[in-house]
Amino acid sequence: MAVSASHVSRLSAAVDVPVPETHLRLFHTHTGERIDVVFRRGGEYVASGLDKLNHFLRDHRTGDVHQYNPKVFDLLADLEAVVGKAGAELQIICGYRTPWSNEFLRKNTTGVAKNSLHMEAEAIDIRLPGLPLQKLRDAALAMKRGGVGYYAASNFVHVDVGRVRRW
Ligand SMILES: [Zn+2]
Repeated sequence: MAVSASHVSRLSAAVDVPVPETHLRLFHTHTGERIDVVFRRGGEYVASGLDKLNHFLRDHRTGDVHQYNPKVFDLLADLEAVVGKAGAELQIICGYRTPWSNEFLRKNTTGVAKNSLHMEAEAIDIRLPGLPLQKLRDAALAMKRGGVGYYAASNFVHVDVGRVRRW
């Protein structure tokens, strides 16, 4: 019996082509922790990888963990690829924030939104060593995947997966 060409190509694709893994390498500037984790295989998120990232990105003031919107992780990996630094170690300045922590920051610093998407685990503050901050910002803006905030004095860029906007 003849095997159709499409059947053969599907079979060989399944056998020969490894499923691409997407990973993130992060350093948290407040906890001093490092992580290197695969969070996606092909189009499927890896639950254990997401768990590790959620814990890593916990509110560093209270220890509370929130489930991140995994689109944030896709955004970070794609952003690194866009600037030619796929797999480089990203520095994390702030991940998830409890409402308490956000209010604490609002009272003690400037530029913190009352309804910050950090409280929804949909925002993250980053820098990429070796890359000028403006380049990281411009690449994030060009992707149009959410909000981008530029904090030159504190040397980080805020990215989120909310509405496309900038400040
Ligand atoms: Zn932020």
